[in-house]
Amino acid sequence: MPIKIAVFSAKPYDREFLATALNKKRENDGNGAPFDLVFHDFALGLDTVPLARGATAVCVFVNDVLNAPVLEALHAEGVRAVLLRCAGFNHVDLIKAETLGFFVANVPSYSPEAVAEFSVALLQTLNRRTHRAYNRVREGNFALDGLLGTTLHGKTVGVVGTGRIGLAAARIFKGYGCRILAFDPYKSNDFLAEKLGDYEDELDNLLPQCDFVSLHCPLTKDTHHIINEHTLAKMKPGAMLVNTSRGGLISTKPVIAALKSRHLGGVALDVYEGEGGLFYNDHSGDIIEDDELMRLMTFPNVILCGHQAFFTVEALTEIANVTLQNFADFMLSHPCPNSLVRSHKLFVRRDSYPVRI
Ligand code: NAD
Repeated sequence: MPIKIAVFSAKPYDREFLATALNKKRENDGNGAPFDLVFHDFALGLDTVPLARGATAVCVFVNDVLNAPVLEALHAEGVRAVLLRCAGFNHVDLIKAETLGFFVANVPSYSPEAVAEFSVALLQTLNRRTHRAYNRVREGNFALDGLLGTTLHGKTVGVVGTGRIGLAAARIFKGYGCRILAFDPYKSNDFLAEKLGDYEDELDNLLPQCDFVSLHCPLTKDTHHIINEHTLAKMKPGAMLVNTSRGGLISTKPVIAALKSRHLGGVALDVYEGEGGLFYNDHSGDIIEDDELMRLMTFPNVILCGHQAFFTVEALTEIANVTLQNFADFMLSHPCPNSLVRSHKLFVRRDSYPVRI
């Protein structure tokens, strides 16, 4: 009987890219990929765990739930591997997974440039008001009032987190002629060697100097609500904030207050703390009950996208190929470079950092 992978939150593009990757793997490996993909539109949660019955692995995305009760229920159904089609793993209880003996692997670096490019595109849309110009011009309104932006050249950009994506973003900002200030408890040798900018040892010292702040750190206990009332007050009046990392980095209420008081110059978000039940689905005919999200969307200087920074052909191809290779490594008991847990010990990769959730 073929081995099954239950793929949750499977959109048409997931099916297409995973099916292509599986065909390619079968062609290349001959019999090396004797597994089937079973696609489910639904997200993984306690109520949908039974859909994984008979599967050896679940393949999940950013808004699937992998907390302790879900992992226990999956284990009881016979599932032994968790394949993340993403880089972030804040939504997986790794300690529980490790205790239960799960194999968990992510796709750590499918295209940092895709996310970095999107962050800069969001920042420039917000800064140059192209989101407003687009709507205006379509109605025959060619007036420029209200569309005034600033020149990025010579401005100071704060890059919070100089891992793969932060580094790629810093390189782009350098190309614009920006001064880059970075904050990361683990300094990047590449950032220093390429002389991309300077590190500040405290976020509180970086924020008052920056015209733009772009978040590129993972969501952990330490970074949860790293943007809050206190840090917002440290930001330069009129500064703009971009978050393509994880919604939980930002506390939304104080951001709304800082927008209302005009202290914040604008916010561009690809991620939102309460995105779980909303993003990746069409709710245009529904009444959305999240008042903070709806308030955010009323500001002319707020841009919100539905977690799409990763969404390029190159990234989806890489995600599909690496996900299947991770599973093949697990099945063949090969060392998997993307494993997040190993033999009942929390495995912290050399390029990673300790995560406790
Ligand atoms: P990475 O692991 O390469 O880099 C993260 C960096 O953040 C590391 O250098 C780490 O030291 C640093 N960091 C940790 N704690 C910090 C703190 N308190 N303050 C500042 N920096 C801190 O990860 P990456 O590949 O660059 O991805 C970053 C994040 O981007 C991921 O965790 C994920 O949440 C998010 N992401 C979003 C999308 C999207 O489509 N919107 C796609 C991919 C990744």
